[in-house]
Amino acid sequence: LFITLEGGDGSGKTTQAELLERWLVEQGRTTLRTREPGGTGVGVEVREIVLHHRGDIAPRAEALLYAADRAHHVATVVRPALERGEVVIQDRYVDSSVAYQGAGRVLDPREVRGLSDWATEGLMPDLTLLLDLPPRAARERLDGARTRYDRLEAEAAAFHDRVRAAYLEIAESDPARIAVLDASRPVEVIAADIRKLVEGLG
Ligand code: C5P
Ligand code: MG
Repeated sequence: LFITLEGGDGSGKTTQAELLERWLVEQGRTTLRTREPGGTGVGVEVREIVLHHRGDIAPRAEALLYAADRAHHVATVVRPALERGEVVIQDRYVDSSVAYQGAGRVLDPREVRGLSDWATEGLMPDLTLLLDLPPRAARERLDGARTRYDRLEAEAAAFHDRVRAAYLEIAESDPARIAVLDASRPVEVIAADIRKLVEGLG
C-alpha cells in the first residue's frame, strides 16, 4: 500500500504522517515512513541544493533535481518496501512537483507530470491525502515553528496561492486517488478522517 501526503508548507503533513504510522503499527502493519525531497543519501544532497542554494535555480533545472531525487528514492527505497508488502507513508510525491514546479514555477503541468512518470516508471500512490489550508493560515503556523525559511517557504504569497489552487485542481481531476481534507480542523479530527480513508482501502 502506497499512501502519500500532500499540501502546502505548514499544512500538517508530517504530523499526520506520524499519527497514521503509529496507528498502522498498532494494527500490526509494517510501515515505512519517508519523504521527498531527501528520502535517500542522494536525496539529502539534492534537498540541500533545492532548499538552500544561494541564488536562483532555472525552473527546468529545479524540476530535474526534484525528479532525480524521486527517481532514486522510488528505485532504492519505495519500490523495494512495497515489494516487501510494507505500507509506505510518504510526505510529498508527484503532486508536489505538478503543484510547485508546474503552477509555482509556471512550467507546463503536463510536462512536469510526464517527467515524474518517467522518473518513477509510472508508480502512483493508492491513496493521496491532500491537506488543504489557506496559505495565510499555514504561514502563521510556520511563523510559530521556524527560525529560518527555506527557498520555497520564502516565496511570495502569490506563489503559495498558485500552489494551493493547483493542488485542488489535481484533486478534482483524480478524485478516486486523492482525498481533500480541511487542514484547518484539529489534528485529531483530521487523523480520524485519515484512518477511515485508509481502512477503506482494506
Ligand atoms: O515538505 P518539506 O518541507 O520537506 O519540503 C521541502 C520544501 O521543498 C518545501 O518548501 C516545498 O515547498 C519544496 N518542494 C518543492 N517541490 C517539490 C517538493 C518540495 O518546491 N516537488
Ligand atoms: Mg516544509
